[in-house]
Amino acid sequence: MATAIVTGASRGIGAAIARELAAHGHDVAVNCAGSLERAEAVAAECREKGVRAQAMAWDVSDFAACQAAVKEIKEALGVPTILVNNAGITADGLLMRMKEEQFDKVLRVNLKGTFNMMQACSALMVRAKTGRIINLSSVAGVMGNAGQVNYAASKAGVIGMTKSAAKELGVRGITVNAIAPGFIATDMTDALPAEVREKAEKQIALGRFGRPEEIAALAGFLASDAAGYITGQVIVADGGLG
Ligand code: NAD
Repeated sequence: MATAIVTGASRGIGAAIARELAAHGHDVAVNCAGSLERAEAVAAECREKGVRAQAMAWDVSDFAACQAAVKEIKEALGVPTILVNNAGITADGLLMRMKEEQFDKVLRVNLKGTFNMMQACSALMVRAKTGRIINLSSVAGVMGNAGQVNYAASKAGVIGMTKSAAKELGVRGITVNAIAPGFIATDMTDALPAEVREKAEKQIALGRFGRPEEIAALAGFLASDAAGYITGQVIVADGGLG
């Protein structure tokens, strides 16, 4: 079994992915941005499944912090050969009103954070001759979404980065894939106005938001041996949106 890092795993999709990977028998580093309390609770749930798990706070947009965290994880839990770049934020607004800082901070966390973590882990995976990198994109990055030029740009960037890294790392036995969820019921979508959520539900073929566990199951599959011949792909899980 492997050592996995899941960023932004204190809640929502990341927490579900951490639990899923633990259920598959992997040790898990449970990252969060700020207070460790919720990440500690997720790590405890992972440990109940019989694996080692550690909650750790660092900001994925900080390059040096990512390098230091990966070094610490290697020493505490072993070489990480599964990396799930899940940490993400929104700062929505229409293009004409969007502030420079709103654009920069979303790109820093969602896109640069993904680069930072892949950069910190890839040399270790190359040495281990195996690796699974799973990046959380979004349907917004595939289709675009009004009010989200910053978020959609970051998630489209994640797709380009995923495909490029897959081409670089494939010969080293490392797969790199992206998951593009539609609307999933988490704190992130809870923050949307009720009318936006109702309108979205009407556009989803399955007529409901997805559950974090439904994205986690896909991440668990992509991290497994069964997915060994899948790389450079963007797998959309959106309940038939649009
Ligand atoms: P969420 O807001 O519930 O959780 C995000 C997590 O990321 C939190 O644990 C937060 O602490 C962490 N985080 C934020 N900034 C961070 C930073 N700088 N460093 C480390 N951690 C940081 O979000 P979610 O809905 O669970 O979404 C998870 C991922 O899936 C995100 O990348 C999001 O963009 C993507 N996604 C979500 C949806 C959805 O409908 N919920 C749809 C498509 C894509």
